[in-house]
Amino acid sequence: MTKPALDEVLRRLDTAARQARQPLPRLLAVSKTQSGEAVAELARAGQQAFGENYVQEAVAKRARLQALGLALEWHLIGHLQTNKAREAADAFDWVQTVDRLRVVEALTRHRDPARGALQVLIQVNVDDEASKHGCRPEEVDALADAIAVHPVLQLRGLMVIPTPHPDPEARRPAFRRTRELFEALRAGHTGIDTLSMGMSDDADIAIAEGATMVRIGTALFGRRESRA
Ligand SMILES: *Cc1c(COP(=O)(O)O)cnc(C)c1O
Repeated sequence: MTKPALDEVLRRLDTAARQARQPLPRLLAVSKTQSGEAVAELARAGQQAFGENYVQEAVAKRARLQALGLALEWHLIGHLQTNKAREAADAFDWVQTVDRLRVVEALTRHRDPARGALQVLIQVNVDDEASKHGCRPEEVDALADAIAVHPVLQLRGLMVIPTPHPDPEARRPAFRRTRELFEALRAGHTGIDTLSMGMSDDADIAIAEGATMVRIGTALFGRRESRA
């Protein structure tokens, strides 16, 4: 089941990238609510990077997969509360949802330098007035400077979740705005190479607007039972 789904998603990304004359983006498989078995199946088919929304769920899944001999790359893509920062700094290789100074400080305090630098993205909120998650565009610079002074954190770029809208095309301006912020960030900092945007229903649009990483759940695993 999953291997053909993976092939189909990779084909779709390849087609979108060719049509937009953009480099092929990296695929992050969003495995929230999925079983360890489903993750293992996809990992054995060659998928390396997995995204989780909840720290607890990721801790358990990572241990499970490690016990199966599968050392994978885990990304936090859900909102991070500072009281979960210690566990998150240990369970994840990437945190894509850094959006305020307190999170930068908490991750810095808890990341074991022996594990190597935690890779981080700044989550920016470019268009969603209703959401409390993600920093405002004008806050990106200050956050990037704060991350840059900590060797245990390596800033890699930006992540965005546009306002939910039934028509994916309506999210294009948010992707475009985030790309502009990404280019500005890249001009001022070294090591910036990741623009995380696009999900199952809008990956093609995000790729056309310059995504270097897309986060795909439903198209790989099928519909989730619960909404998460
Ligand atoms: C669930 C989720 C995804 C994946 O969404 P699909 O529509 O299932 O592909 C991507 N990014 C974030 C932040 C998510 O929470």
